[in-house]
Amino acid sequence: MTPQLIHACNPGVLTGRGNNTYLIGTTLIDAGIGSAEHLDAVTLALDGRALSHVIVTHGHSDHSAGVPAIRARWPDVRVSKNFPDSVVTDGWSPLREGEVIDVGGGTLRVLCTPGHAIDHVCLYDDVRGDLFAGDMVIIGTTVLVPSRSKGGDMRAYLASLGRLRDLDAARILPGHGPVIDRPRDRINAVIEHRLLREAQVLACLTQGVTDPAVMVAKIYEGLPPTLLPFAEQTVIAHLEKIDEDRQAG
Ligand SMILES: [Zn+2]
Repeated sequence: MTPQLIHACNPGVLTGRGNNTYLIGTTLIDAGIGSAEHLDAVTLALDGRALSHVIVTHGHSDHSAGVPAIRARWPDVRVSKNFPDSVVTDGWSPLREGEVIDVGGGTLRVLCTPGHAIDHVCLYDDVRGDLFAGDMVIIGTTVLVPSRSKGGDMRAYLASLGRLRDLDAARILPGHGPVIDRPRDRINAVIEHRLLREAQVLACLTQGVTDPAVMVAKIYEGLPPTLLPFAEQTVIAHLEKIDEDRQAG
């Protein structure tokens, strides 16, 4: 079924123009933040039907905080996300790797893709070749991969990207920004960028630089000060991956 893009109406520093949500039949991918404008747009698109299912790609607030407002408007809606530690929040349905979800006239396959967030999933329409990729890959900038203590995992992120590339999807419908028409090219570019950053972090270590903040100053020239903490998270995530790669031999 043809997905319909519905903006979540939450522009900001980290969300860009705001989040994308996608309506397929009566299933909504990602919840936004519950802005009335967003919910009104969903209502209009539903054209008298009730919303039956909200699938949340991951628990970050710009993708999930709208759930209570959605429930208030559609009390019978089913709400699903991945719970990697198997502790399922009350009232939610857990998503499982490989699960195929019926969206009425089509299906979505669940792919667990940790990295940007531990609970991150992508949803794949095998027939249309549409990949709903949440925050795995976007155009124009790279997504944040936080340190392990903040739910990120750089090693898993690169493995997840490899998995998505191998799908050979026709297009990616991301959680932010425009549709990606050449998924393989964009995913390869993101992997290359991450490996370049990893090489830069390794070069710092070779020079005896071990402080992530000092690494950020050396690697990310001209970065606006507001983004420095995020760059530092990414550098820590790279350091963790380098450590894990060494331990794995
Ligand atoms: Zn996110």
